[in-house]
Amino acid sequence: MEKDLKSKTVAQLERLVTGLGQPKYLAGYIFSAIQSRGVTDISAITTLSKSFRAKLVEEGCYISKLEIVDKLTDPDGTVKYVFGLPDGGRIESVLLFDDDRRTLCVSTQVGCAMGCVFCATGRLGLARNLTAGEIVDQVNVVNQDIRTSGNQADKTNSSPDNLITCYPDTRNHISNVVFMGMGEPLANYDAVLDAVRILNNSAGRHIGIRHLTMSTCGLVEGIERLADEDIQPRLAISLNAPTDAIRQKLMPITKKYPLDRLFAAIGRYQRTTRNRVTFEYCLIKGINDTVLHAQMLVKRLRGVMCNVNLIEYNPHEGCNLKPSGRQAIERFAGVLKDAGIETIIRLKMGQTINAACGQLGSG
Ligand code: SF4
Repeated sequence: MEKDLKSKTVAQLERLVTGLGQPKYLAGYIFSAIQSRGVTDISAITTLSKSFRAKLVEEGCYISKLEIVDKLTDPDGTVKYVFGLPDGGRIESVLLFDDDRRTLCVSTQVGCAMGCVFCATGRLGLARNLTAGEIVDQVNVVNQDIRTSGNQADKTNSSPDNLITCYPDTRNHISNVVFMGMGEPLANYDAVLDAVRILNNSAGRHIGIRHLTMSTCGLVEGIERLADEDIQPRLAISLNAPTDAIRQKLMPITKKYPLDRLFAAIGRYQRTTRNRVTFEYCLIKGINDTVLHAQMLVKRLRGVMCNVNLIEYNPHEGCNLKPSGRQAIERFAGVLKDAGIETIIRLKMGQTINAACGQLGSG
């Protein structure tokens, strides 16, 4: 049994406390102490009796805490947090600023087994899955950090060039979470879904379900499972190619789940949830970025309720792919827009600190 209380949803805490002969409502006290007030020591949950706190400790329960080991800020304001794990592993989260939104891109695994060729994390291989507590704590710790930074700014009225310290108090919290950092979230399904439940709960961070997005390289069984859940975060698909032949060169998972199978699962997800799906498309020079590729993509997306994010490939050491360039991206976007597909060209963010898409884990 998982002993880290930070990893537990309210329902799981209820099972724990009733199993120890205590009333169910105590689960709410534990949950809000950890997820809302940031308590990291069971003895500090003073809404519980001393004897019950002692019982929890006796049962081996504890509250985990991630430690920031490095924090890097790009001139565009993007911040990369590097966290150390108790077993020596490292994971990264990226904080992005967009008007009044504060989006945190969180990791779900240490490394990744999927091997997408444009992605630095893929080259690390998979070390292990993160627990729900480790996923959630990326949000808790960064949230605490930006609140502290914001307060410092109020006191010092520091440089307007520093986006971390100049935004007002109303923006001092994470509003959106994307499970798009290191790892494939649907390969760590249970922990990620528990993290969604924890982050969405009104006694904790209370991040709206439409502000929680799972991004997958296309694990079909996971998408189908998600379609049947009682809680439905938004779904993003890292697509990157209009045909199996091109996609296989970029994303080995295509051999197992060809596009027809992937789109059948997306269709099922949409019939059940009525949610729009976001397709992420990383443009790589000479591989997937021509007008013909765009036309094939339009054909592929016909009938799917969706929007497309175009991202220029972010170079990193050890990978000799080339970014498409602005002109090719705009031409590609034009074809999609002319076909009535909502398309956004994503600005490159966090490149100098290796925090952009596909760069995590590259140092
Ligand atoms: S793009 Fe995502 S799924 Fe692919 S290797 Fe990188 S982290 Fe893994």
